[in-house]
Amino acid sequence: MSAAGGWCPECGEHYGAGTVACPNCRAVLVDAPPSPPGSPVVVHRVPDAAAGALLAGLLEHHGLRVHLRSATLPGYGDVRRDWSTTAWGELLVARRDAEEARELIAEYLAALERGGRVRDEDVEEGSGG
Ligand SMILES: [Zn+2]
Repeated sequence: MSAAGGWCPECGEHYGAGTVACPNCRAVLVDAPPSPPGSPVVVHRVPDAAAGALLAGLLEHHGLRVHLRSATLPGYGDVRRDWSTTAWGELLVARRDAEEARELIAEYLAALERGGRVRDEDVEEGSGG
């Protein structure tokens, strides 16, 4: 906790020193500016195209809008656009869907580790319908 101000994680407004929470959203300010509202956030990195398509399909099955972004440059083979990432690509969803998407992926991966084969019942468990 500092009195140095920061950005509201809800509306993105910046406040100066002395403000600890957004007076509009009542959200505690964070040190870094959040992504613009509505802009997608990365929820998972995938090792290859097949895994990306699989997880994207899983999220779409649950009604989430998902964007699969490859880290490779089209036309340049496996040249990485971002050398800091070793993954093939990443899954992005809207900010409001990020938490649900992460839970779905986590449950899916946990189910994979348990038994190898994954059924819909496994991934829908605990999602609240
Ligand atoms: Zn706010």
